[in-house]
Amino acid sequence: MQLNLVKNMADLQQALAGLRTQGSVGFVPTMGALHAGHASLIKLAKERSKNVVVSIFVNPTQFGPNEDFTKYPKMLEKDMETAKAAGASLVYAPSAGDIYPEGFSTSISAGNMNKILDGAFRPGHFDGVATVVAKLLLRVVPQVAVFGEKDYQQLCVIRRVVQDLDLPVEIIAAPIMRETDGLAMSSRNAYLTPEERKTAPEIYKTLCETVKHIKAGMPHRQATAEGVDKLSSMGFKVDYLELHDAATLNSIESLERPARLLVAAWLGGTRLIDNIAMG
Ligand code: AMP
Repeated sequence: MQLNLVKNMADLQQALAGLRTQGSVGFVPTMGALHAGHASLIKLAKERSKNVVVSIFVNPTQFGPNEDFTKYPKMLEKDMETAKAAGASLVYAPSAGDIYPEGFSTSISAGNMNKILDGAFRPGHFDGVATVVAKLLLRVVPQVAVFGEKDYQQLCVIRRVVQDLDLPVEIIAAPIMRETDGLAMSSRNAYLTPEERKTAPEIYKTLCETVKHIKAGMPHRQATAEGVDKLSSMGFKVDYLELHDAATLNSIESLERPARLLVAAWLGGTRLIDNIAMG
């Protein structure tokens, strides 16, 4: 199958007009530096649609002033190959000016999500995500859009945006793709030094151990505190390791409803996130 590249809204609309005559459109928004995790999303979208559009846009408004926006890896040619192999028909790689033209001033607030987990540690992050994803969904107007559980809170934010703003799209969640040693695949893993890369899988091991302890009856706050101690002793600086309601991400006391154990921790200058289902 042929893979086309467009870089602005006019060319996107023209390409989409052609794709829509062929059937349904699926959409996978990304920031590029595509890996097997992204490819799994594209494949999932392809199972559900005739054509898949992949966006590649490192969105400046979702990065804080001291975050990694300027050093975020960029490799459009390689990404095109990955997207093509996974079954995409169109890559939309807009400039910042195409997404945020002169005078742009409206944004969507992620509301309560700004107060919990990553929302609390990355002020403005989810407003940036909500706004850019809403814009992309309104430009592409796909029947389905696929997001990874790797960014679990982001998935919850998107589900809320789509529900609250009546966006006519079905959101599909894709499971986390991992390296063979358990580390969740991430474009940011490229920042890790060889030494840090050896330590990084401990984050997933700790998630699994913490789940085991909670299932064995240990109070979840005790289990997560032990997990934080373990990660800290191995050199991580933990932002949070917490159990939350899987749908609302509210704090929970007991395991009566599906829950999600989520972690964010720094290893040197790299911030890693991961999560696992419970109950
Ligand atoms: P990003 O390029 O990091 O913004 O990610 C784009 C999409 O790919 C998001 O929906 C992510 O949740 C998803 N994603 C990233 N890494 C993984 C992974 N290891 N497994 C599954 N989905 C992923």
